[in-house]
Amino acid sequence: MNLKELAVHITAEFQKHYGRAPRWIAAAPGRVNVIGEHTDYNDGFVLPMAIERYAIMAADAPLPGSVAAQSKITIFDTHFDETATIDVSAPVTKGTPKWSNYIRGVLCGFQQRGVKIPALDVAFLSTVPLGGGLSSSAALEVCTATLIEAVTGQTIDPIEKALLAQKAEHDFAGVPCGIMDQFISALGREGQLLLLDCRTRQTQLVPMSDPSVALLVINTNVKHELGSGEYAKRRAECEEAAKIIGVKSLRDATPDQLEKAKSKLSDVVYRRARHVIGEIERTVHAAEGIRQSNWPTVGQFMYASHAALRDDYEVSCKELDAVVEIAEDIGYKGGVYGCRMTGGGFGGCCVALVKADHADAITKKIATEYKAKTGIEAAIFASRPAAGATIIKG
Ligand code: ADP
Ligand code: MG
Repeated sequence: MNLKELAVHITAEFQKHYGRAPRWIAAAPGRVNVIGEHTDYNDGFVLPMAIERYAIMAADAPLPGSVAAQSKITIFDTHFDETATIDVSAPVTKGTPKWSNYIRGVLCGFQQRGVKIPALDVAFLSTVPLGGGLSSSAALEVCTATLIEAVTGQTIDPIEKALLAQKAEHDFAGVPCGIMDQFISALGREGQLLLLDCRTRQTQLVPMSDPSVALLVINTNVKHELGSGEYAKRRAECEEAAKIIGVKSLRDATPDQLEKAKSKLSDVVYRRARHVIGEIERTVHAAEGIRQSNWPTVGQFMYASHAALRDDYEVSCKELDAVVEIAEDIGYKGGVYGCRMTGGGFGGCCVALVKADHADAITKKIATEYKAKTGIEAAIFASRPAAGATIIKG
């Protein structure tokens, strides 16, 4: 469903649930990171793009009548077929259901900025798959923030909005995420990727409007449960490498410096640093390649990124590797420029850069061969770089 169709759909959901039409509609996209993995906490670059999958909310003021209705936000979530009720007459706190905390955190952020949150009836749906590494959480947070902007008329700077959403995820969902997901969801522009410097928070839009290429998102539909422990280990290994090399973070280290320090680093720490230092470079070069529509080069950076994540950083898994191997087999002649795992690893999605007119055939081939290799159905879709958060009605 495109955004227009989604707006019609959420309007119908609101109507069905509350018996009237909504007054405001806001949406925010999920994202896929094209390149720049495990670079964010090393002060490096990432290159995400907003995808044509969205969290969308429709809302209206509650009907006049009960006093209680005037002090709360009621959110009907079509995914869990469940309603959350949040008291907004006092400072918003954590609560149940669990998913409401992403919303609560954002409301609290607005309150801390001195915004009075009005009572609302809300219907919510999302076409970003939950927990698949496409950032359904940031889409939910940024959508909430955008709805509050629409309702109160008090808009905030998109960077402030992204940071407010990130804080909500830290404080209310307990997830110590970086800034990428919320930045791209808030700042994305149609037909453009976002090169984000995680050290300075500076952003550059990178146009990708060549109609001859497409990006495929391939969800392996697996999630291996070693994610968070391994994540903490990788962070510690990167800090150790930076300390021994003598730099503030791996962002500041060159390949030369790494080689000079090699004898002082354990093999594992050396390889972790090699991935990060290489990946930061690859990300900047890939952005340049995209600007120049140099697709074979961009594809090579994607393959190189995957190899480093698999061999040096060791965050891939056999399902992600299977997808990349299938893509490599299809190859340039079959219309694939490059493919890599995307997201933290140990499952989740791959992203492939392909010739647009081959996208359907490639999708079928990857689906069939992935099923044959792993016994699992992949979920695959193509997306153009989508726009960031928008007020659709308000
Ligand atoms: P990702 O952001 O990669 O999709 P996360 O684990 O960060 O994965 O976020 C997923 C969580 O976000 C869900 O477990 C849920 O709490 C919340 N969420 C996202 N989308 C929805 C939705 N449509 N309905 C309810 N909760 C949602
Ligand atoms: Mg998330």
